Amino acid sequence: MESEIRERLERIGRRIEAAARRAGRDPAAVQLIVVTKTRSIEQIRAVLACGPYALGENRVQEALEKIPLLPPETVWHLIGHLQRNKAKPAVRHFAMIHSLDSDRLAEALQRAAEAEERAVEALIEVNVSGEASKFGLAPAQVEPLLAVVAKSCDRIRVRGLMTMAPLVADPETVRPVFRGLRELRDRLIAAGYDLPHLSMGMTNDFEVAVEEGATMVRIGTAVFEG
Ligand SMILES: *Cc1c(COP(=O)(O)O)cnc(C)c1O
Repeated sequence: MESEIRERLERIGRRIEAAARRAGRDPAAVQLIVVTKTRSIEQIRAVLACGPYALGENRVQEALEKIPLLPPETVWHLIGHLQRNKAKPAVRHFAMIHSLDSDRLAEALQRAAEAEERAVEALIEVNVSGEASKFGLAPAQVEPLLAVVAKSCDRIRVRGLMTMAPLVADPETVRPVFRGLRELRDRLIAAGYDLPHLSMGMTNDFEVAVEEGATMVRIGTAVFEG
């Protein structure tokens, strides 16, 4: 199992590198987050044996079951929707939360971070495509949330934006979604916000996302299957 995972990780790394070069970007500016939701501890150990990859989980509860079984230095990212009543364990266990999507969640994270005496790194999740089934703020709601965090959440550091593109057969179809997130980020930078990160791109579409400026790609299926 480990040699197959290693080969897939290497292949993904080469594809990220090629996509970055096509866009004139530095491949080192793109971080691969290995998405381990639904995967076994043995599979996750095989990933970590290949290198110190950051891991992405989409549910707090599932992550809490895995975290004690893996090395304490493992870096975990929360990539799925976060309920306010899970703010405390989220703050305690995750290096970054990719799914900040409301004032109320920001307030809950701020209170949890105060109680835990920590700071939280977060990305704001944006529903660029406007699909009703997706979490995330409409693009126009992002700056108001950034203003709320700047004013009243001194323990939250918003580091960028995250989006999920619709699942389509041809990833070129979703290029405008990734470009839209980058353009929104660039407008917010021009307005004075410090937002270095764009978390976008999954198994089906990560090369297009890298071409459009992704700094973090979240990949599960291509690591564990195929
Ligand atoms: C599952 C998941 C991914 C990874 O998807 P794959 O298609 O398996 O690469 C990325 N981001 C989020 C938010 C996910 O839930």
